[in-house]
Amino acid sequence: MHRVCVPVTAGIPRGCVFVLLVAIIANAVSLGTLAFVQIAVYVNGREARVPYGARVAQALAAAGADLPAGDLIDADGAVLEVGGGNRAWVALNGARCELTDRIGPGDRIEVIPGTPIIESIVVETAETAQPFEIIGSGPFVKVRSPGAPGKVTVKRGLITGKVFESAESHEPSAMVVARFQYAVARKLVVLSFDDGPHPVYTPQILEVLRDEGVHAAFFVTGAQVAAYPGILKRIYAEGHEIGNHTYSHTLMESAPECDVLSEIQDTSELVERLIGSATRWLRPVGGALSAAYVHAAESTGHTLVLWNIDTQDWRAARDLGRSDEISMRVADAPPANGSVILMHDGGGFRGATVKALKAIIPALREQGYQFCTLSELWHFLGLDGRLTEAL
Ligand SMILES: [Zn+2]
Repeated sequence: MHRVCVPVTAGIPRGCVFVLLVAIIANAVSLGTLAFVQIAVYVNGREARVPYGARVAQALAAAGADLPAGDLIDADGAVLEVGGGNRAWVALNGARCELTDRIGPGDRIEVIPGTPIIESIVVETAETAQPFEIIGSGPFVKVRSPGAPGKVTVKRGLITGKVFESAESHEPSAMVVARFQYAVARKLVVLSFDDGPHPVYTPQILEVLRDEGVHAAFFVTGAQVAAYPGILKRIYAEGHEIGNHTYSHTLMESAPECDVLSEIQDTSELVERLIGSATRWLRPVGGALSAAYVHAAESTGHTLVLWNIDTQDWRAARDLGRSDEISMRVADAPPANGSVILMHDGGGFRGATVKALKAIIPALREQGYQFCTLSELWHFLGLDGRLTEAL
């Protein structure tokens, strides 16, 4: 009977032992058990030594080579974010590779740094400010020549918004407006009061007007209306006109149209909430107009009203004696028919205005003038489009 169990080495041919050894070594290499064997590779042209079977990442670490990403650059060339650009990549023997690829003796590894990313460019066409010219000194305003705003092509960075190039593609032409007075046959004048409602002086002025049976126009600011809504309602209830004098009483000759619009609309909406009727007449603060202002008035359906007689009552700060000067400015020179007289019921001490008013009304009446509101003046003038006008 044959023995089936023999010692391991006994009876194995020499050739088989050799084959077995090769297999064991091959297996050890594949398992990395020969990692103690160092090999030379080249990282960016310089030799680095890594264990046999190492990967690309190990070679980079051994060589102290990093992977620099590009930067994010703004449209003007400034660095927005270090490393915010394209990532670096690695070539192994001239071909793109992964950091996990295995390397062998003599392999050449090259780091290709990331390239920068430059922010995208937005091209926009914007309007430039339009020159503005005003002629005459009457209370009403008519556009003689609308002109046109300029156009400019602007290149700006998408992220930063930085403008780095702008070129005018269309030159602006001036808007020309005339301040004129309507030639009305009757001896009519309009009294107008700005900057209220005021808790002290507006009621006093209302009393004078009621005693005299005169109706006037009150150009109110939204801020004052918000503070004294009851006085606004009283002005309206007593038959006077409510005009719009912006919300915050800010000079707006350089303001963009959107800012002018919100000043007008905020006031108009507030007035409408209180009396049920939006404003129709608009008086710019300080009489300061611009092309944007005229556009804003037109687009909100307002008629611009300035004045042709300025009482300069605001100069009479805390000086009742100056009420005579105020009334003299009005009553001494006969006003043209259809004049609009500027006074103030708010914005400061107006005691002199109240006192002057008591003199102005009878003085003008004596000269044959009648007082009316702006709407009444419009009524007597007939249709807006067929008015004769005099600068
Ligand atoms: Zn004012």
